[in-house]
Amino acid sequence: MQVTNARIRGRDGLWTIGIEGDTIASLTPAGDGAQASQGDFDAEGRLVCPQFLENHVHLDYANTAGVPRVNDSGTLFEAIEIWGERKAQGLQNRDQILANAREAARSLASHGVGYIRSHVDVTDPELTAFDALLELREEIKPWCHLELIAFPQNGVYAYPGGDKLMRTAMERGADVVGGIPHLEPTREDGVRSVQYLFDLAEEFGARLDIHCDEIDDEQSRFVEVMAAETTKRGMQGRVTVAHAVAMGYYNPGYMAKLLPKLKEAGLGFVINPKENLQLQGRGFGQPVPRGVAPIRDLDDLGLPVAFGQDSMVDPWYPLGDGDLVDVLDVALHVGHMLTPAYLDRALDFLTLHPATNFGLADRYGIEEGRLASLLVLDAADDTAVVRTHPDVLLSVHEGREVLRRVPAQTTWAL
Ligand SMILES: [Zn+2]
Repeated sequence: MQVTNARIRGRDGLWTIGIEGDTIASLTPAGDGAQASQGDFDAEGRLVCPQFLENHVHLDYANTAGVPRVNDSGTLFEAIEIWGERKAQGLQNRDQILANAREAARSLASHGVGYIRSHVDVTDPELTAFDALLELREEIKPWCHLELIAFPQNGVYAYPGGDKLMRTAMERGADVVGGIPHLEPTREDGVRSVQYLFDLAEEFGARLDIHCDEIDDEQSRFVEVMAAETTKRGMQGRVTVAHAVAMGYYNPGYMAKLLPKLKEAGLGFVINPKENLQLQGRGFGQPVPRGVAPIRDLDDLGLPVAFGQDSMVDPWYPLGDGDLVDVLDVALHVGHMLTPAYLDRALDFLTLHPATNFGLADRYGIEEGRLASLLVLDAADDTAVVRTHPDVLLSVHEGREVLRRVPAQTTWAL
């Protein structure tokens, strides 16, 4: 198929994108005589960009809010408590998890996502959720690349046998090693958990993507441990830090020491601003802290910073429909990034940066020879996307058409 009259960032004029198999076979200036055929899509001058990547979501938690109970305090700690109750009451059965996760993945795809990294809680001796999501990974392959992160929600050491369950999940086919050092019993256990998880990643040739310092505590300093391990082991480009909320509380002297180390380690970041605006900064009184990592500082360092939805209707966060442009909008606001320096390339936070974290960057993008995973958005450029939250009019995943959407029509009466 072809996408005709496509506007492509960084190129003048309009273009015809020729797709063969799973690849962008050709990019030619519009009107250069390419033969139209059935199934082509006329973008009519709208923006074509690569499919979005969701770098941080918990599909095994999706669509569970309120059962067994509502999170009244709105805190992360109450959410974890509720999650423990849900597991203990046997409410997480395989069929239910699969149905809930499938619905969430569909919702993400309807907003233009073609690549998802989902954490899966493996602090469960039966690995029920993990097995369910392995099944989902296969099922949705035609329209979505799903990577599973083995995630020890209740800790590698805080949860009895958590270290062994992480290994089992990797043996059963997890793609990425997760972790949660700030919730281990002590700082030392947290450091030990990071070392264990890096060992595991090296053994399995896997990347790491670790919940790190998701706490309103300026003493939580596992980002520096992540950077040190990455540099020591030469794993630059293979490690992603998720959340890094505590960075929002670090003093300037410590930040001045820390930031060059993050750069040296080439860490990727995934920030989940909507989730953390909800969960963090509680109990401080006025002024309420934002509880979000310093997005702009990290981006200014040139590190790949992605934005994620994190939760979709679960005990941590009652909303979330997989609309990553909405997440992007909030992130740029909370990061004080509403200038052309950021707005003109805003989609990088949903495309190129997460693709770098996934290790897909060299196969991804609107270029000849890259994967034909693309969107037609009802907007002309990145700034307009953030401003207007346009519909996804076409989504193609690795050469397969996923959806088409007709723009809604408004008829003014006056
Ligand atoms: Zn998370």
